Amino acid sequence: MKYSESNRREFIKTASAGGLGASILGSDSIGLYDNVGQPLAQRPQNAKIRITDIKVAIMGNYPVVRVVTDAGIDGYGQGEPAKSQLKFHILFYKDYLIGEDPTNVERCMMKIRRAGGFKPWGTSVSIIETALWDIAGKAANLPIYKLMGGKVRDHVRTYLTHVRNSKVGIPREGNETKDYYNWAVKFRDHELGFSIVKVPMGFHGDHQYVPGFHYGNISRAQAPRSAPYTHAPMTEYGMKMMVEHVAAMKEGLGDKVGLALDIGPGNFLSDAIRLCNALEPYNLMWMEDMLTGDYHPYVMADDYLELTRSTTVPIHTGEQIYLRQHFRELIGKNAVRVIGPDPADVGGMAELKWIAEFADLHSILMAPHGAYNGLLGLAAEVMVGATMPENFIAFEYTSPTDQWWYEIVEGLPNPIVKDSLIEVWDRPGLGVGFNVRAAKQYLREEDKDFFD
Ligand SMILES: [Mg+2]
Repeated sequence: MKYSESNRREFIKTASAGGLGASILGSDSIGLYDNVGQPLAQRPQNAKIRITDIKVAIMGNYPVVRVVTDAGIDGYGQGEPAKSQLKFHILFYKDYLIGEDPTNVERCMMKIRRAGGFKPWGTSVSIIETALWDIAGKAANLPIYKLMGGKVRDHVRTYLTHVRNSKVGIPREGNETKDYYNWAVKFRDHELGFSIVKVPMGFHGDHQYVPGFHYGNISRAQAPRSAPYTHAPMTEYGMKMMVEHVAAMKEGLGDKVGLALDIGPGNFLSDAIRLCNALEPYNLMWMEDMLTGDYHPYVMADDYLELTRSTTVPIHTGEQIYLRQHFRELIGKNAVRVIGPDPADVGGMAELKWIAEFADLHSILMAPHGAYNGLLGLAAEVMVGATMPENFIAFEYTSPTDQWWYEIVEGLPNPIVKDSLIEVWDRPGLGVGFNVRAAKQYLREEDKDFFD
């Protein structure tokens, strides 16, 4: 076992550091006071409230939106990607929302929802929606889950995506079969005890760079920048390599840790069917985004339907999809077995909840995406995850790219995850918020007035 002690400590620190910021200013008061220090409980519940401004900052690797009101209550939302162009897109909606009552979340969303789009353009609408719920919860002095029908569960399950060389998780030493096995044994035995792990593979992972993996001869430099992954016919060698690596991981993980694969987009339908058939003996949790996915502005439900009917492996997609309408065929036709809408891309928390209910009617399971939504995005996943029906499996664990996020966001439990579960907290709104004094030092020069 080459897994270093320092990496292990980093993992534990990362996964348990949520209380770090909380200890700085005493987070017992989080959410119980508005932004001018007035206790929310003393505010008349029917007091008028209007949106006065919408602000956006790029903090670290995330766009963060702040919806400002005349009642001294602000709402926040966070997502990806950290492109400054996204700032202009978020501000595009400002004129539609100024003067509106943010606690009428749906009325606000009706004004802006139709002007959104698939990832990355769903982010703008979605994180504004989260900020509106944050305000609505604070104004009502209730956690968001209470406004979405209340708790179904007290603890929300989360799964970990293995990202090689990431500071969060357990690194894999290399790409040989033994490396996959050794990594799986370490993951299985790790004290944090995640009950599901998702591994990027094939055209979503390192395999696509292995010579002979596929027949494609378009270099990455020549590929369109909007499609970060290769799209090519797979070789027999490539397919056998993946089956071998999956077999090694399953042998190491055993049957107590579920294994999911993020394995595209990039596969042609015929390859996808052959690969799924070859992987049927391994009881995978799901195969994700084999045909479409990240940054694909389309769904291809009929292709997914053929794939799903061709294999016993549960087929999963949905992280880049915007709005319930684009899940209609996937769910209505039972074209997939699991879906993964991202609350920071699909149109918001309530959009995700609506889709989960529709999916439940069709026996389709929920595994929402969210790895890059930051700590406010984590809170959004917990709030809406608490309300989802029984088809909810787990959401993708969300950890920040920079450790300082744990110092500027208050209110998360410590440790955040225990046995793959996060206990649902009861503070108003999202129940987490910025330590403004600490957060200000991470604002870019052009965003200096974000908290003013
Ligand atoms: Mg994915």
